[in-house]
Amino acid sequence: MDHENIREIRIDPIVPTQSVLISTARGNRPHKEELPPTRDVREYVESCPFCRGNEHLTPPASFQVPSTEEWEIRAVENPYPILSDVPLPPGVTQGLQQAVEGYGHHEVIIDHSNHGIALDQMSEQHLALLFAFYRDRMRFLYNTDPRIRYVLVFKNFGKAAGGSMPHTHSQLIAMPIVPHNVHDEVEYSQGFYQKNGSCIFCTLIDEAMSLQTTAYDRRSGETRQYYVSGKYVVERGRHFVAIKPFASRYEWEVHILPIKHQSNFLQVTSEELDDLAWVLRRTMTRLKAVVGEVQYNYFIHTVPHVENSSDFAHSFHWHIEICPRTSIPSGFELGSGLFINTISPEAAASQLRQAEVQD
Ligand SMILES: [Zn+2]
Ligand SMILES: [Zn+2]
Ligand SMILES: [Zn+2]
Repeated sequence: MDHENIREIRIDPIVPTQSVLISTARGNRPHKEELPPTRDVREYVESCPFCRGNEHLTPPASFQVPSTEEWEIRAVENPYPILSDVPLPPGVTQGLQQAVEGYGHHEVIIDHSNHGIALDQMSEQHLALLFAFYRDRMRFLYNTDPRIRYVLVFKNFGKAAGGSMPHTHSQLIAMPIVPHNVHDEVEYSQGFYQKNGSCIFCTLIDEAMSLQTTAYDRRSGETRQYYVSGKYVVERGRHFVAIKPFASRYEWEVHILPIKHQSNFLQVTSEELDDLAWVLRRTMTRLKAVVGEVQYNYFIHTVPHVENSSDFAHSFHWHIEICPRTSIPSGFELGSGLFINTISPEAAASQLRQAEVQD
């Protein structure tokens, strides 16, 4: 299949209003914008406020593990918050312009005391600790601030992915609204559940792990059936699976989901997080082996903290979306909202699977 060029518009199975143009011939264009790798690999930088020993350069920690000087992960208020609980004078709006107060919390999570460590270099024990940290911080914010409807946890790695500080970090934004990406996933998956009685994410995981294909013999016209197993699977653990979405917006986009249905990230157990750490480290190692030192974003999508959130317990399925940035969106993409992906998701999954990973 790899030698054949694909040019098709794929509709996102979860959010059908989103689509992506898979156009593999474009991947052969003579010049593709290369983004320079920008990772700062130093372990300690004297002037860096996020390095261990420089705690006096940041606001006091809102949460830290362990609580000693030898901390491994630390959350501090973002000094330049996107949303804040400090009120600003209201702006002026006119006519159709509408604005909602930018209330919320914006924290930086210093992922590791080592300045330049990459995610795939962190120990699995540390990665499990990091995701437990996200979970506990998220729970704390929901429990202490009734105005919060969604806590978005995300990581920007590299300048092209919006990373402004070279020290490895993630961010957490607690907001009084449900962001529309999450809202759309929640709505459409509920529609699927009402129609089919099953979770669309579980259905996609099943399809990704074992795909049945019908093949015809051209000469005799005979039909024979065979299974192509795990065409979209990148990595599979005991509790988590990393899959390449059928309608991937980004060439090397990978999603990680719990294999067993779970709607809320807050429900994840430490035993499950150990497995997530294993799957995540191996997935990042595969990405590095195939695409190199890549800039990326990842974020967690989970059920929002709304009054009727229990309505989505069976239809929504939390997940992590990893979006490596190997090209800059063009005017066509910004203008049309249609993403262009130049590598077929099937070929990308197969390349990632073949990459060697040390245990
Ligand atoms: Zn640092
Ligand atoms: Zn599910
Ligand atoms: Zn999502």
